[in-house]
Formats: sequence, structure tokens, C-alpha cells
Amino acid sequence: MSNTPTPLPPPEAAPLTPVEKFLTLFVPLFLLITLAGIITCIQHLNSLFDWIVFIIALPVAWAMSDVITGITHWALDTYGSEETPYLGYVLIKPFRMHHEHPTYMVQFDDAPTIANSAAGATPLQLIAWYVATLGGWWSIIALLFMIAFFGAVATNLFHKWSHMDTPPAFAKALQRCHLILTVEHHDLHHISPHKTAYCITNGWMNPLLDTIHFWRAMEFVLGKLGLHPHEQKKV
Ligand SMILES: [Zn+2]
Ligand SMILES: [Zn+2]
Repeated sequence: MSNTPTPLPPPEAAPLTPVEKFLTLFVPLFLLITLAGIITCIQHLNSLFDWIVFIIALPVAWAMSDVITGITHWALDTYGSEETPYLGYVLIKPFRMHHEHPTYMVQFDDAPTIANSAAGATPLQLIAWYVATLGGWWSIIALLFMIAFFGAVATNLFHKWSHMDTPPAFAKALQRCHLILTVEHHDLHHISPHKTAYCITNGWMNPLLDTIHFWRAMEFVLGKLGLHPHEQKKV
């Protein structure tokens, strides 16, 4: 069942612009770099201890991805406006629009859904791949970031699947295992005023971050530095 809080049908999906079509080329490139980088990390596992650290690193990286998506989501929901240079139209507008029309995103194919994130994360993944070649602890650190970056990019799909009436069977299985964002958990964010449960890779970090009022604390600190949430700005 979809977690749509509004009876309004979503606007019809806009056709992809030439730039958006170009960005989809980064999807296979990002996935290839991720795969090559993870293989490089695994090639540097030389002992049982390395493998134990590797196994522990997997859920840690998945939680890191959750935090990365939470910070990104919170920042785009909270600061700036659709008129903000560069980020306004490309990132802030879709995030704000998503609260009004949660199912708008399900009209898009998978590649365009993750194209922007893949393009942005490709240079980071290349750096992580290089670090992976250094061996030792560097390979483990690189692995953490490579999986976290992969999760952050794939999160756009996890998010989309959480809004679909009939997501792919494997996505449903991953949701049931709580390895990716579940419908029920993401419903929490779609309750107005959309101020909790920002983490959307798997939602693992939301109970902790919401309980300690992490996002409000961040807003308080940034407010002291002169950066205020968009709805609190003095005109
Ligand atoms: Zn939001
Ligand atoms: Zn959503």
C-alpha cells in the first residue's frame, strides 16, 4: 500500500531534458566503478581478521548511507528555496514538491531516478577506489565509503519503492528484512510538518537522531551562525 497522504493525483511526469538524459549515462559508470572498487577492497583482505572487519563494515556503511541521506534530505527540506541558485530548481524543488505529491516520483524509470546522485557521487567513488588500492586499513575505510556512497545513490530507488503500490518483488523482500526503507517507516516523514525521519536509505538511524532531537539541534546551531530555516526567514 502506498503512503500517499493526499488524494490529489500527481502532476504528469515532465519529459526528461537533454541534460537529464545525459546524466543517466553516469548510472552504469557509477555502478561499474563501485563494483571495481569493492573487488579491489576484497582483494586486499589477507587474513581472518580482515574478513571479520569487512563483515562488520557492511552494516556500518549501510548506516552511514542512512545518515548521508538524512543530512541531505534535511538540508534540502529546511534551507533555501526553489529560487536558490543552482540547487533550487534541481534539488530543492523536487524535495519540497515530494511532500505535496509523494507519488510523482514513481512515474520515472529507475535510471533517471538515480542519475543526478550517480553523477554527483561518481568523482567521490573514484577517489574511494584509489584509496582502496592503498591496502591495509585504507581498503577498509574505502570500502565503508564506497558502500555508503552506493547506498546514498540507490536511496532514490529505495525511496521510490516505498511509494509504489507494487514495488518489484526483490524490493519488497528487502523492505521486509528492513535492509531498505519500509513504507511504514517512511510514512512518519510524510506526516506534516515533515520534520522527522529524514534518513531514507533504511531508516535505521531515525529513532536515534529523532530521539536526541539531532535535526532541531543542528537548526539551532546553524541559526546562531545566521543560517535560518526557510519558513523562519525574516523578509
Ligand atoms: Zn522531506
Ligand atoms: Zn517520500
